[in-house]
Amino acid sequence: MKYRVQNPSQTQQIAAELARRLRGGEVIWMEGDLGAGKTTFVKGLAAALGVEEVVTSPTFTFLRSYRGRALTLHHFDLYRAQDADELYELGLAEYLGESDAVCVIEWNKLESPVEPIRVRIRVVGDTEREIEIV
Ligand code: ADP
Ligand code: MG
Repeated sequence: MKYRVQNPSQTQQIAAELARRLRGGEVIWMEGDLGAGKTTFVKGLAAALGVEEVVTSPTFTFLRSYRGRALTLHHFDLYRAQDADELYELGLAEYLGESDAVCVIEWNKLESPVEPIRVRIRVVGDTEREIEIV
């Protein structure tokens, strides 16, 4: 599916639509340049899953987990990870595919045990984005 959005809240609406399809066990790869809106999208996902905490980018910790209504959201940001070995040593791969959780990953460097959902965000203009979900 391909969408055109005009502002951050529309991006979060698309995320909320995706959230409704999630049943647990999914792995979502966020793709797009720095500043495209990946974290913005994840915030929309979190809100729609019933996360009440403020979602902030786990740039230095690699992972933050949030309890939603029915599912836990594991939010990864692997931008600063040196290599995959480091991440496997930290045990991060063990979260992938958990049946009562959804993993959403910015700058993925891990192999996914399940076919990932790919969310690609492309900057079109100042606040215009193209979002493709495959
Ligand atoms: P990323 O995680 O991809 O680096 P962020 O979500 O952290 O990007 O930042 C995206 C920035 O772009 C935010 O400042 C946000 O307000 C802005 N922005 C403008 N238009 C949009 C849009 N349509 N969707 C998402 N973010 C947008
Ligand atoms: Mg980000």
